[in-house]
Amino acid sequence: MMDDTNVRSDAAQKKKVVDLIKRKQQLRYEEEQEIIKREILVFCQDCNEWRLETLVEIQGIEEDFDGRDKLSFMCDRCGKFQQSFRVLK
Ligand SMILES: [Zn+2]
Repeated sequence: MMDDTNVRSDAAQKKKVVDLIKRKQQLRYEEEQEIIKREILVFCQDCNEWRLETLVEIQGIEEDFDGRDKLSFMCDRCGKFQQSFRVLK
């Protein structure tokens, strides 16, 4: 009886640990996604500075002849319509 209880609690303990690891991995994945998003910059010609893609209001995206992503957006600083390539910080 004693052994049986131990086995069951071990199994429960293991499941808890597995769940914890999964949650941590999920969190890390979400954090990484957030970092990736944060590090993409677009250029505002009116402000003459780089803005974070996550902060601007995205209107659309298209590819140029070289296959580079060209983003249409409203600048979060000046509120004007802009077009810019997406650049990794
Ligand atoms: Zn601007």
